[in-house]
Amino acid sequence: MMKYHIWTEGCQMNVADSQRVASELEKLGYRATRDAESADVIVLNTCVVRQSAEDKAYARLMSLKPLKAARPDLVLGLMGCLVGVRDASPLQKRFPFVDVFLPPSDPSKLVELLRARDGHAARGEDFEIEQHEIETRYELQDADLVLPVHERGNLVSAHVPIIYGCNHICTFCIIPYRRGRERSRSIGEIAAEARALVKQGVKEITLLGQIVDRYGYDVGDDPRLPDLLRAIHDIEGLERIRFLTSHPLYLTDELLDAIAGLPKVCEHIEVPVQAGDDAMLAKMKRGYTVDNYRALSAKIRARVPNVSIATDIIVGMPGETEAQFLGTYHLLKELELDVAHVAMFSPRPNTVAARWDDDMPPDEKERRRKAIEDLQADIVATINAKFLGQTVEVLVEEKAKNRWKGRTRNNKLVFFEDAAREWKGKLAHVKIEWTGPWSMIGTVMPE
Ligand code: SF4
Repeated sequence: MMKYHIWTEGCQMNVADSQRVASELEKLGYRATRDAESADVIVLNTCVVRQSAEDKAYARLMSLKPLKAARPDLVLGLMGCLVGVRDASPLQKRFPFVDVFLPPSDPSKLVELLRARDGHAARGEDFEIEQHEIETRYELQDADLVLPVHERGNLVSAHVPIIYGCNHICTFCIIPYRRGRERSRSIGEIAAEARALVKQGVKEITLLGQIVDRYGYDVGDDPRLPDLLRAIHDIEGLERIRFLTSHPLYLTDELLDAIAGLPKVCEHIEVPVQAGDDAMLAKMKRGYTVDNYRALSAKIRARVPNVSIATDIIVGMPGETEAQFLGTYHLLKELELDVAHVAMFSPRPNTVAARWDDDMPPDEKERRRKAIEDLQADIVATINAKFLGQTVEVLVEEKAKNRWKGRTRNNKLVFFEDAAREWKGKLAHVKIEWTGPWSMIGTVMPE
């Protein structure tokens, strides 16, 4: 049996891309292994959004060089934002021991290489059975994605990319340079993938895009994200739909109404503000003001009952003054959002911000990051305390240390104990008895 090993770093888009690679390799008869040393194919799916992530990718790649030297038949693939959509020849020169360079979201070069190399020789009896299953599913037009054997019937929640790339050029962000311009997938293709996932046991699908609510903008006047949500809403067996990441400029009223009106679409929106100062937002080229974001969060809350809102923040941009930082701090204090992911600015190649002086000492960036995180922990602890005594619907993902773990519709993490029943993949109604900033604990209620 030929085996593959995939190492993934970075965002949910990369996790979904790795899933796609795994699916393609499974179709070729390969099986997953956690042990890179014994794999016939290794793919490193990389992230470069911050220098630390990029360093990690280089370290992992170099650690595999001796293995490749000892086993020249090993196929080593480098994928993701380190490769990007640009010409791979500089990387080829630098890392000649890598067999194939794959842009984000596109495993086709690896598939071609393995097909050419293996022919039919790699396909054992087991593969023939698998192939038959796949063909049957193709007849149903539901086989675009084949989960790895160990995940079939085991994966409760899956991510499906719906739009690749980004047309914005936020001054700090490397993503448009590495993932290219926007390309939306067709509704038919996405729906087929969603149906295939649900058939294999998935209950929740998260639709992904760098700006997910720009779905369809590259194609024409329609479809848009609300159309896609309606198209996959009626898939039997699918319990929940989420989408991320939104952009304040494209979170339309129609989209908010779709969230409010479609029962399977969860009341959780990830919409980054990045900074709480107009001059800084202009410097970041975000295209909105603090007041625009204020108004948007009020509108989201008015139109979508029980919604939770998550945001992203960058601290330590070049030239960020104490007053600008405090603008961000006070905005978060005022808006009381459910989640704030905080990143410290790190200059990235080709971006506009890389030309500016990265003038803030690391310990000052760290102080600002920690101040936001501490504030946010207090805010979320207060928000979550309101759930005490309430009964919430939890989609159970797995058992962790004798406790079932799942999420509410608005993405709160909930644990409960129940030794008597198998809850994985089921909806449980849990009465909340303890809350903290990062999770809640409760008791499952009789149905
Ligand atoms: S919207 Fe801005 S931050 Fe988001 S991926 Fe595009 S360029 Fe990067």
